[in-house]
Amino acid sequence: MEMNELIARVIPCSAEPLIFDETKCIGCNSCAGICQCDIMIPSPEKGKHPIVLYPGECYYCGACVMVCPRPGALRIQHPVMNRTKFVPVKPDPLAERPAGN
Ligand code: SF4
Ligand code: SF4
Repeated sequence: MEMNELIARVIPCSAEPLIFDETKCIGCNSCAGICQCDIMIPSPEKGKHPIVLYPGECYYCGACVMVCPRPGALRIQHPVMNRTKFVPVKPDPLAERPAGN
């Protein structure tokens, strides 16, 4: 059977949405298969984790982590700008003072 060669390059991005643990990943490609954004392709090396071709297209849905059969093999790393944490607003003591004081 004639084989066609496929050349694909990773599109550079400031974010690195997926972190694989090579000691736990078995290269089943379930994460690549479920990703609705198709940001990964299977590794050409059997048993290795998929290659993230389009890291900037991840929208952090978490489906890839949920489908992974190996706990800890894959985790999501949110961009710094998405790690904001809302805190309660402290009451302003000056707002309680009567006018003129
Ligand atoms: S978090 Fe969602 S969009 Fe991002 S790689 Fe995983 S499945 Fe795809
Ligand atoms: S689903 Fe988990 S074990 Fe399978 S390739 Fe992805 S990270 Fe590796």
